[in-house]
Amino acid sequence: MNRWWPVFFGFFLIVVLFGGLTTVVSSATSSSVSYTEFKALVTHGAIQEVYLDEDSIRATRVDLNETEKLLIIPRVPGDDDLVQLLETHGVQVSGVPKNACSDGSPLLFLFPLLMLAGFWWIMMRQGGPSRGVAAFGRNTATLAPEEGTGVTFEDIAGVDEAVEELQEIIAFLTTPERFTSLGGRPPKGVLLVGPPGTGKTLLARAVAGEADVPFFSMSGSSFVEMFVGVGAARVRDLFKVAEEHAPCIIFIDELDAVGKARGLSGAAGNEEREQTLNQLLVELDGFDNRNGIIVMAATNRPETLDQALLRAGRFDRQVLVDRPDVRGREAILEVHSAKLKLDEEVSLRDIARVTPGFAGADLANILNDAALLAARREQTSIMMKDIQDAIERTVAGLEKKNRRLSEKERCVVAYHECGHAICAAASPGSDPVKKISIIPRGIAALGYTIQMPLEDRYLMSQSELLNRITVLYGGRVAEEIVFGDITTGAHDDIRKASDLSRRMVTEYGMSRTVGAINYSGETQPNPFGLGPSAPGAALTSPKTAELIESEVRRITDLCHERAHQILLENRALLEEMAQHLLEHEVLDGEEMNHLLARAHAAEPLHQAPPLSPTSVEE
Ligand code: ADP
Ligand code: ZN
Repeated sequence: MNRWWPVFFGFFLIVVLFGGLTTVVSSATSSSVSYTEFKALVTHGAIQEVYLDEDSIRATRVDLNETEKLLIIPRVPGDDDLVQLLETHGVQVSGVPKNACSDGSPLLFLFPLLMLAGFWWIMMRQGGPSRGVAAFGRNTATLAPEEGTGVTFEDIAGVDEAVEELQEIIAFLTTPERFTSLGGRPPKGVLLVGPPGTGKTLLARAVAGEADVPFFSMSGSSFVEMFVGVGAARVRDLFKVAEEHAPCIIFIDELDAVGKARGLSGAAGNEEREQTLNQLLVELDGFDNRNGIIVMAATNRPETLDQALLRAGRFDRQVLVDRPDVRGREAILEVHSAKLKLDEEVSLRDIARVTPGFAGADLANILNDAALLAARREQTSIMMKDIQDAIERTVAGLEKKNRRLSEKERCVVAYHECGHAICAAASPGSDPVKKISIIPRGIAALGYTIQMPLEDRYLMSQSELLNRITVLYGGRVAEEIVFGDITTGAHDDIRKASDLSRRMVTEYGMSRTVGAINYSGETQPNPFGLGPSAPGAALTSPKTAELIESEVRRITDLCHERAHQILLENRALLEEMAQHLLEHEVLDGEEMNHLLARAHAAEPLHQAPPLSPTSVEE
């Protein structure tokens, strides 16, 4: 409650200051001249100039000195012939039209506004960038749903997998009986995860549009206000109103703003956010969604979310909305150019090809910028040149944000990823490669290779571990072979490879020289189950430590050398795959298999024999 006192104090201040100023201003200009006296002065020629407004007369006397010469006389009703009187005595008359702002003192008029603006500004500063004057009360105006968003899946492209997953939600909203009659648990919360501008909001609106249900939209940051309890109340209101409008969709953008893991930032002022989050959890658990309410939310930082939000019955469905690949970008460009007048020479495919890493919003912006450029250049249609210029501008912005790779970097990443893939294909028994991509994702992963384990592994043999390390080195080795230079791109692979080989030596007992002894420093798992194990006593003598180092080194060298061999023998395939990847950005399992099969025919893949246990144990 004590949080309200600055507000009261602020109002008090306004009242006092405003009252005081009014008195000061009016006393400085008050005059003791009556209306009759004023008229007398006019007839005597003592008045030089008069300014009339609706209820006062300001007159300038000629016969007095500077400080006294201004008179302000209240007007009396029915003085309609005043102007005539003034004019016959040669007084210069000016005035404002009736109903315009009365009282010519601009200061008096502006002062309350300025005060309010200042007060508002202070509130904004105190509340942080996302909280505003709305904190004064509950902003129920935004609780009105949007009836029929009018957006359909036709307006969205390049995120087919997400669209697929959302079909079920639409089915539920349109025919909820189908779900509930079988006694199943209907879906409740869907979390759209993906980088900014990839169409998460658009997807949510499209679900509402396709199912033809009302759409409630709120931003997570708008829940978190400076006064404790306001956000929670707003959440409560939102769900209450939504229940009256069911079936409907509640969409919470920037869920991370409210949903940040509790107690993470530790700073003061979290109380409000935690209360809001708790209320959200309560509402998510409490609302009965059999009558068809779906809560959708979007975030680009799922890792910061409170785990409680992701539990069953809350946002337990997560839909990945990723940056589009080259085909997706072309499709998005098609959607957004439908209403534009493009020149015939414009090739959307070419535009898609030169815009890796662009999200849907970036592409929409490019076309819009190009249209503006074309208009400024007084063309009748949008030319390729306009689009190229627009791309260049956007690229400069994205490069600053670290989201776009240069041509050279893309090339390195492509060979690196193909190196992993080929090593995996050439190592018998290693998990098949499912997908390779060089679309930049976060800052950490420039490209990636996904290997699918054939079955869940409980046991891994020594040769499988060696294969895995070989595959990890494949990326770095490809760079060495192709460019004769190496980059920092392999640091994560190297970390994983070192970790694996160290475990082989110190935990799995896979080195004969070191022996089957645990040297990992971990003795017993922590008796309380969670957290790190209790650190063991110093188990390694300096001599053993040296031995371990040299064994780890031997294993990594072995695998590195093996990756080198594989890639040298598959140099042509590496080249072909990398070029293919550079062109398409994504290679998935089937394409991959096809490519590898073709390469087999031309030049059989070298199937290196599995490393015999002795080669490690020697
Ligand atoms: P997010 O919520 O993921 O930040 P938005 O849904 O707000 O992104 O996208 C902003 C705009 O960008 C959309 O209104 C749309 O014009 C365009 N856009 C983004 N992704 C796509 C897409 N996949 N297909 C078509 N347009 C898109
Ligand atoms: Zn790698």
